[in-house]
Amino acid sequence: MNTATIEQLIVERFLRYTAIDTRSDDHIATKPSTAGQWDLLHLLVKELKELGLEDVLLNADGFLIARIPSNIPGSAQPPVIGFMAHVDTSPDMPGNGVRPQIIEAYDGSDIPLGDQWTLTTADNPLLKKYVGSTIITTDGRTLLGADDKAGVAEIMAVLQYYHDHPEIRHGALEIIFTADEETGHGMDGFPLEQLHARCCYTMDGGRSGEIESECFHANRVDITFTGVMYHPGAARGRMVNAITMANRFCMMIPQSESPETTDEREGYYYLGEISGDSSSCTLIMNLRDFEASGMERRIRVVEATAHAVQESSAAGKVDLKVIKQYVNMAEYVSKDPLVMEKLQQAVERAGITPIMQPIRGGTDGARLSEMGIPAPNIFAGGVNFHSRFEWVAVPAMVEAAVVIDTLIHLWSSEQA
Ligand SMILES: [Zn+2]
Repeated sequence: MNTATIEQLIVERFLRYTAIDTRSDDHIATKPSTAGQWDLLHLLVKELKELGLEDVLLNADGFLIARIPSNIPGSAQPPVIGFMAHVDTSPDMPGNGVRPQIIEAYDGSDIPLGDQWTLTTADNPLLKKYVGSTIITTDGRTLLGADDKAGVAEIMAVLQYYHDHPEIRHGALEIIFTADEETGHGMDGFPLEQLHARCCYTMDGGRSGEIESECFHANRVDITFTGVMYHPGAARGRMVNAITMANRFCMMIPQSESPETTDEREGYYYLGEISGDSSSCTLIMNLRDFEASGMERRIRVVEATAHAVQESSAAGKVDLKVIKQYVNMAEYVSKDPLVMEKLQQAVERAGITPIMQPIRGGTDGARLSEMGIPAPNIFAGGVNFHSRFEWVAVPAMVEAAVVIDTLIHLWSSEQA
């Protein structure tokens, strides 16, 4: 692959995709949750068709599946492999009117993001690796959307490159773009019967070199506290305040197992959202743990805490609902050892040292792995996801595209 060409193909796409507001919304149940995601999906359909691809499906739930036929002659064909990325950006940060700053020949200094914020090398020592290269940052008002438009752009750039270089031999490929990954609904209703891939690499990781076959087990817990209302002036001994109940609950959740106090292989309880008033309060919590047994323990802790609040709240009521989000993909990915072996080889052949670590989060790939198609995660190059400090180095995106291309070549020597 000519890296100057692929760089140009990636950057023009990345800027085109980040201009579209695709922030997802976890309060909306329909899929995709926002109109902007449709806009990007329709644009991708158009671009895929311009590449001469005939088998491009966009269904009513916003799943885009494109098939690229093999151009290897003969009946002995390699297995179909897939690549996946998501079109939405995080609901945690504004994603409208993204105005990327493009810094060419980066000089190694702190980067102002508008007039209020600064991307510092102290907080981002990785910046030093890219002195002399092109860096893309936000202007401080919004996130950038490298999560996961870097992944989308890298996949699309490789397809464009193959289209422009028909002499490059490759097996059959399947491309999957999903909506609402950030709200945890990315794989809801996934048309699994449409997929023939032996495995599917998810382009949704961070800095260059990261490859991941392990993620959290994840559950969401919705807890509703219902109080008993009287006029506050005549409430003595009778009123049960739902805010007080929710507060009591939050205070009992182990503070030493919060996102702010844990890292590496430690799980956590995350108090994510609270809404309501003295009559009724709703709390949304996320539970994360790398071990299934650890997740069971966390659910028991939350249930016991809810019970304790119930017991101490007279006529007040506590209702709790546990909603499964995704599971640790490690055991599903390890069933087909070649999937990670090829990935590790591809990264090494691209001249990068693989960084293998568990993801302290999850991806659509975790859900797809559980459905039977191993889908480990590959770096897409971005850093500081879900934040105004998000940035991406162009060489990292190029490396991701080289890994995609190398993987396709490595798989083409296998038999389906
Ligand atoms: Zn992502």
